[in-house]
Amino acid sequence: MSDTKKKIVIAVDGFSSCGKSTFAKAIAARLGYIFIDTGAMYRAVTLFAIDEGAICGDRVDEGAVVALLDKISITFRFNPERGASDIYVNGNLAEGRIRGIEVSDRVSAVSAIPEVRHKLVAMQQEMGRERGVVMDGRDIGTVVFPDAELKIYMTADPRVRAQRRYDELTAKGDHVTLEEIERNVRERDHADMTRAISPLRRAEDAVELDNSHMTVAEQMEWFEREFAKRV
Ligand code: C5P
Repeated sequence: MSDTKKKIVIAVDGFSSCGKSTFAKAIAARLGYIFIDTGAMYRAVTLFAIDEGAICGDRVDEGAVVALLDKISITFRFNPERGASDIYVNGNLAEGRIRGIEVSDRVSAVSAIPEVRHKLVAMQQEMGRERGVVMDGRDIGTVVFPDAELKIYMTADPRVRAQRRYDELTAKGDHVTLEEIERNVRERDHADMTRAISPLRRAEDAVELDNSHMTVAEQMEWFEREFAKRV
């Protein structure tokens, strides 16, 4: 159905670890659209800032992070094995490290810096200029593409979300505790919703999807109905 119709922008916003990427990736594969994980971009800047010494322990030196912005190039390359794009920072594969707890614990502070948002939002708008994208994040339907034809706001029970992130990380061999993950999810939700610039909030014209007790197949059925209403 998608190839005969005009391509649209689909914005998927919501809380940490509520399955946005899995869902957005499935939609993109279904429609032949490009999937863009904007959280990975904020994580990439955070990783680079750690490696360059602009973050020491929990202290984020905002001026130093801003000074690094001209020295960072973020690119995506499709990885057929994963069926998704891997993120590269200045040509180096960063996909594995950006998901670790060291980055997760600091990314909300970095994403609250206006200059960081300014740069990444401009990149995201450019990536979606020709439409035909599914973009997941926190501010896609409110700031990046306020004109997105379909806006989805995802939520799920915080405990379910922490368990999902825990399962994902331990499956990769990361040594983390469920408590540590729960704390991180809670703190990021709070920081993302209360920051001064582009806080996480539901766009007025977004449709809400609570997937606490839904399989991916059920979410896709829900999506098909919503998509059909728009194209
Ligand atoms: O989506 P993910 O959990 O990987 O995002 C990591 C962090 O990046 C979020 O907690 C949030 O601080 C930030 N972020 C953001 N705006 C986006 C996407 C992510 O501020 N569009």
